[in-house]
Amino acid sequence: MSRPVIGIATQTLEAIPGELPPCWIMGQKYVHALRSSGAIPWLIPLIPDDLSTLREIYQRLDGIFLTGGVDVDPSQYGEHRASYCGRTDPPRDAVEIQLIRWSLVDRKPILAVCRGIQVVNVALGGNLFQDVASQRPGSIKHDYFPTKEAPARDYLAHSIRTMQGSRLRAYLGEAPVLVNSMHHQAIKNLAPGLVVTAVAPDGVIEGVEGSNGHYLLGVQWHPEELTDRDGGMQELFTSFVRAATPVNP
Ligand code: MN
Repeated sequence: MSRPVIGIATQTLEAIPGELPPCWIMGQKYVHALRSSGAIPWLIPLIPDDLSTLREIYQRLDGIFLTGGVDVDPSQYGEHRASYCGRTDPPRDAVEIQLIRWSLVDRKPILAVCRGIQVVNVALGGNLFQDVASQRPGSIKHDYFPTKEAPARDYLAHSIRTMQGSRLRAYLGEAPVLVNSMHHQAIKNLAPGLVVTAVAPDGVIEGVEGSNGHYLLGVQWHPEELTDRDGGMQELFTSFVRAATPVNP
């Protein structure tokens, strides 16, 4: 068996505006989590206007990993941007949504975290809260974004509960699990083809899976920050890499 190639779309960044040309970047932690789980991580340029090249890249991939990042542009789900919506990256939206749609057709495995679960829901026809705190009164705090004073990305902010029969239940068990929480948006209306497989105590959707057996798993937290302390979080990556591993005849 050969190691699966896992594509990771990047994010646009102007490192030094006006001085350097725009860059495509990605956080190293995601790359290391996939690499140490047995995958070959492969960063993907944001070239939504060159579909033939993007398609050639896609065809060389065994699976897709969708990372955290900026907000999905509300135009992708038919809404105007509210004042509480954050920065967006439309070329990233377009590339990720295209990769997800191709993967659904071919049943290529998808693992999605944070922004990733949100863009999966949008790609399949769902929508998002542009800001949970503003649009969903009574919710617990989910936006524990690291600051200079408190930079811990592995801070366990709240619990989640997994659903019986789900992949997440198999990896994380029946008891409530503490997770980190660095998001201010969340799934509002669930897309067709997805089922909710984890929720926070306030009912905010924290995990979704494909309803047809396709390895399509999204979580709202950041398991790549928790793999050292929690075998279940590592199992999210291990099982994904296993599902994407090419079977040689
Ligand atoms: Mn949360």
